[in-house]
Amino acid sequence: MEPMHVHPIEIPTPFPVGPVNVYLFGGDPLTLVDAGPKTGDALAALETGFARAGHRVEDVRRIVLTHGHVDHAGLARTLVERSGAEVYIHPADLPKVGDTAAYYRAMRRFLESAGVPEAPVQGLQERARIMQRMRDPLRDVRTLQEGDEIEMGGRRFRVLHCPGHSIGHICLHDGKRMLVAGDVLLGDISPNPLIEFDVSGARIPTLPQYLATLRRLQDLPMEVALPGHGGPIAAPAARAAETVAHHQARKAEIAALLRNGPRTLADLTLTLFGNLDELNVVLAISEVVGHLDLLVMEGAAAVETRNGILHYARTA
Ligand SMILES: [Zn+2]
Ligand SMILES: [Zn+2]
Repeated sequence: MEPMHVHPIEIPTPFPVGPVNVYLFGGDPLTLVDAGPKTGDALAALETGFARAGHRVEDVRRIVLTHGHVDHAGLARTLVERSGAEVYIHPADLPKVGDTAAYYRAMRRFLESAGVPEAPVQGLQERARIMQRMRDPLRDVRTLQEGDEIEMGGRRFRVLHCPGHSIGHICLHDGKRMLVAGDVLLGDISPNPLIEFDVSGARIPTLPQYLATLRRLQDLPMEVALPGHGGPIAAPAARAAETVAHHQARKAEIAALLRNGPRTLADLTLTLFGNLDELNVVLAISEVVGHLDLLVMEGAAAVETRNGILHYARTA
């Protein structure tokens, strides 16, 4: 096997998920997978990591973003301004690294239809402000799509479109051994199928997409996955299978909550998580609605709107 020059760099984030991993692939062109959030601490950690690998931030030629979330993409423009690097992302995640106003408008409407009270809905604005501070919007972004190939660290990687955690999430596979996984596979936690909307503002069911992604990964030849958070995953296919099983169990748990008649998303989320905490309400509701989407698709549950609020019920 040819030598592989990949340097993992752990970048601190202020988010509950903890540090994020970025991966510096040596050789020509010098390529960074993911960038970290735009904070002083993140930039300092990145500079230290580059120096340890014998490089400077100014030397990076390409930045490949696994997806557009702030903890992975926020710092990219700072790096571009210092290095002139080209940035790549899947086209479906372009809105996340551009203008996010439409997303927050759609999310606000959705939380109202979920029956979430006014205070947590207002909290969304504060969350948007916090996120905004930790990213600079990107311009002149290049795209990578399913089947594209890219050479990194002296090895050829194929782009896999892996929607579910983020609609434009990509993984990079070297064809035999290694998967650069981003947030699609994590060692200790199960990635959240975050709520997304299409251009018309309609919600996209992301958990069904995510399960399809995991089933695809189960069949991929690989020995190690390099995740966006936590250490390398030694048995990635088994971890993918475990994550599928986790969602099956969670789906059964949520189905049981529909036993006593129709319930709103806010009500189900309160039962499962104990609160509608302002900063985590989106994460919590994403998880609940994802499993309800599965139940509706399977015909085990139905949804109807009453006075503008979604109600989920078991089917007979
Ligand atoms: Zn993410
Ligand atoms: Zn992440």
